Amino acid sequence: RGTSDLVMVYHRLPYEEVREKGKVRRQPHSSPNGILPTLLSFFGDGTRGAWIAWSIDDGTEEPFVTHTSVDKEAYPNLICSRVPLLKEDVDIFYKRFSKEAFWPMLHTFWERAEFREDHWEVFCEVNRKFAEKAAEEAAEGALVWIHDYNLWMVPAYLRERRPDLKIAFFHHTHFPSADIFNVVPWRREIVGSLLQCDYVGFHIPRQVENFVDVVRGVMPFQVQERQPCAPRFLTYGCAAGLGEMTTEIETTHRTIRLGAHPVGLDIDRMKQALDSRAYRKQKRLLEEDVGVKGDGQVILSVERLDYTKGVLPKLLAFEKMLDAHPDMLNEVTLVIICVPAAQEIKVYQELVADIEQAVGRINGRFAQVGWTPIRYYYRGFPMQQLTAFYERADVMWITPLRDGLNLVAKEFVAIQGLTEGAGRLVLSEFTGAAAELHGALLTNPHDLHDLAERCYQGLVMTPSEAATRIRLLYDIVTYHDIRRWGAEFIAGARNEEKKPEPSE
Ligand code: UDP
Repeated sequence: RGTSDLVMVYHRLPYEEVREKGKVRRQPHSSPNGILPTLLSFFGDGTRGAWIAWSIDDGTEEPFVTHTSVDKEAYPNLICSRVPLLKEDVDIFYKRFSKEAFWPMLHTFWERAEFREDHWEVFCEVNRKFAEKAAEEAAEGALVWIHDYNLWMVPAYLRERRPDLKIAFFHHTHFPSADIFNVVPWRREIVGSLLQCDYVGFHIPRQVENFVDVVRGVMPFQVQERQPCAPRFLTYGCAAGLGEMTTEIETTHRTIRLGAHPVGLDIDRMKQALDSRAYRKQKRLLEEDVGVKGDGQVILSVERLDYTKGVLPKLLAFEKMLDAHPDMLNEVTLVIICVPAAQEIKVYQELVADIEQAVGRINGRFAQVGWTPIRYYYRGFPMQQLTAFYERADVMWITPLRDGLNLVAKEFVAIQGLTEGAGRLVLSEFTGAAAELHGALLTNPHDLHDLAERCYQGLVMTPSEAATRIRLLYDIVTYHDIRRWGAEFIAGARNEEKKPEPSE
């Protein structure tokens, strides 16, 4: 039994480890979103805590350091407890199995999922190691907050060892309907594990409903008894708003509460980006040459390379729009920023080739002297530079076929709001963010005609309507910020009646 009152179980450390000549150097994460600083902020008041994450043990670090600190001044009582993993296990648990089995299924591409029993065994073994660490670090009755589907089995192994703990889980990724989820061979084990939690959070009510449906349909296993436990619902109704507790499920051992808490932005970080030299330089470069001249409009598309993001349908819809609306020829440029990802996996390599081919074909078909319809960047930009693109965009075109949330949509809205712009957000209705961002032009990325026409509607929208919509959206994005997300989740997990106002 440990001394930590709050234990975070996250797949990675709150800092980056750089390995050089047998030495491990630590540096702050370059990750653009505000989740890590927000999670760290819960230790800022001196709370005794632990952060459990994996770290590669390849023999170069001799002896392997089990405990490190993050920042002794800012978080005096926080320690990181590193779970030593072999590189092969990380490759299977984190890169291969998660990407090849669970990721496609969670995003409703279940036919692409490859379920391998040997990979599942590694997955469970790694999850068990995380649970053992959490059990060692947690004080009597502590709150343990586990993050995302990579750690689905941690609640089961943890509860086995520590019945006294309060266990909370946040699902950062989309949770699909029962018809999809039930293809997973180990669905009973996974649901049985999640039912060992006291609190489970998702981004939006629909994902809560999907989980409830899954629980209704499968007979979950309680791992410690290897026996099915029939869940009984106390209350059910997802009409409650975002951030509200919506459902309770009672099992033989406990009542599990479920909540919808969409992740938000750190608006201060967005303001800082607008204040940076890198932003100003990028803004100047874009003013000089973004691909369109004078009054020409820019459509922006920003995403990590993934088939879930709908880049190919977007390209085909862009072509359709140019065919249907010749007034846009020479007038509009589609700027695509596609961040390379999972380059070792074949489907991702094929996707890059397909995108490049489509970009080449469409540019070849429509380009004129002085105008290239598509500008394609196959690389990531740091947030400060990205900010300049968000500001310059007339239409932000976000087209995932399925996405748990989509932070890019919120970042665009925040930058347009902060710079008093009147950019238009065209957003796939299959993103979690669409449940929140009322004021966006919603579109169905499975329907190329709708995709093209919503984009066109954005391009020809009057400036006054665009300004009204972006103000509405900005209010939503600033209200549901990252601090509110964290504060509400913790309040839900602790079962506090009144939710605290998030600190400034
Ligand atoms: N991003 C970035 N540089 C880029 C493109 C994207 O830093 O060139 C960041 C973007 O700011 C956002 C994140 O990548 O915070 C993508 O998050 P999102 O929720 O939209 O999608 P995910 O990749 O998590 O599925």
